[in-house]
Amino acid sequence: MSSIFAKRMETLGTETAFEVLAKARALEKQGKDIVHLEIGEPDFDTPKNIKEAAVKAINAGYTHYGPSAGLPDFRETIAQYVSKTRGIKAEADEVVVTPGAKPIMFFSILALVNPGDEVLYPNPGFPIYESMINFVDAKPVPIPLPEENDFRLEPEFIKRHVTKKTKLIILNYPENPTGGIVTKEDLKVIADCIADRDDVFVLADEIYSRIIYEGKHESIASLPGMKDKTILLDGFSKTYAMTGWRLGYGVMRKDIAQKVAQLMTNSNSCTCSFTQMAGIEALKGPQTEPEKMVAEFKKRREVIVSGLNDIKGITCKKPHGAFYVFPNIKGTGMDCRKLGDHLLYNAGVAALAGTCFGKYGEDHLRLSFANSVENIQKALDRIAKGLQKR
Ligand code: PLP
Repeated sequence: MSSIFAKRMETLGTETAFEVLAKARALEKQGKDIVHLEIGEPDFDTPKNIKEAAVKAINAGYTHYGPSAGLPDFRETIAQYVSKTRGIKAEADEVVVTPGAKPIMFFSILALVNPGDEVLYPNPGFPIYESMINFVDAKPVPIPLPEENDFRLEPEFIKRHVTKKTKLIILNYPENPTGGIVTKEDLKVIADCIADRDDVFVLADEIYSRIIYEGKHESIASLPGMKDKTILLDGFSKTYAMTGWRLGYGVMRKDIAQKVAQLMTNSNSCTCSFTQMAGIEALKGPQTEPEKMVAEFKKRREVIVSGLNDIKGITCKKPHGAFYVFPNIKGTGMDCRKLGDHLLYNAGVAALAGTCFGKYGEDHLRLSFANSVENIQKALDRIAKGLQKR
């Protein structure tokens, strides 16, 4: 029987974290106790000043449609924030506000990439990149992230793989799932190899730019000549514990911003108005809460990394940013997908198989440490015991 679905749906991938979360919730419904280390969201509450700003905005009537690209004051606030944090001159009309940052991937790829174009992207990496590249019938060119180099991409690899068909290079730093970062020197090599190309763009996913444990975040947009070649993606989900608010943005050349805004008109119409007002408070208000969250993540990082390294068969690198670890589980002798299922069904720990992040994620698990130290310790205990009971 022929499928009822459009052909293009065959190439669309998914984000497995949501599927594992659903399985874990089903087990909880049956009375099982599960430690959730699968989903990438801060366990903290959204800071009070931001919540109050949203309530105030609702009462002030920010409950109607707004412009597709975002409220002018919010776009201006974002432009100022990005200018300050990246050392560039971003303008309000280069900003597009979206419900979460994820649509920036979707829309910029839809707007720029033709069938047959080549797109480089990190692997293991956020699964939506590969999903979208396939969806638009482009050619995925995975950039491996060598574990022995702390999952830092090799810029020389990019240099070797940029061809005349290359349209987009996706970078994500700090990286999900590895916590890897890049240096300014790496970024310079990447910028140099596309310096004479006005048809190649970089999608810089900087959603974890504020969750960094040592050193300073470097943005490719701040390198000479790169601002107009970069679509900078950022948002509020991770930094301000606002995953459910759905608030993110992209900063890009004005002509690209207009196309992305047109895609917003065709899909969401606009981003929720009162959450945008809360976004202004997030960026302009006190930054003590997000700073406290990062300090807490840093403590948890120590607990999870040393705990995993104490388990036979597992080795774990220390992530430099974001809130994930990507331990190597080869020594357990188990396939990472089987191990993920075993831990979920028999040990009460929800984790993701490394292959949820692409083929180079083989032999790894991804665990989020956006959970309490107590729960992390419980999970470590369960993983150690679960590996003995096979
Ligand atoms: N980029 C990366 C690398 C992520 O890990 C995520 C969320 O998990 C996002 C973007 C999307 O964030 P949101 O759509 O919640 O703003």
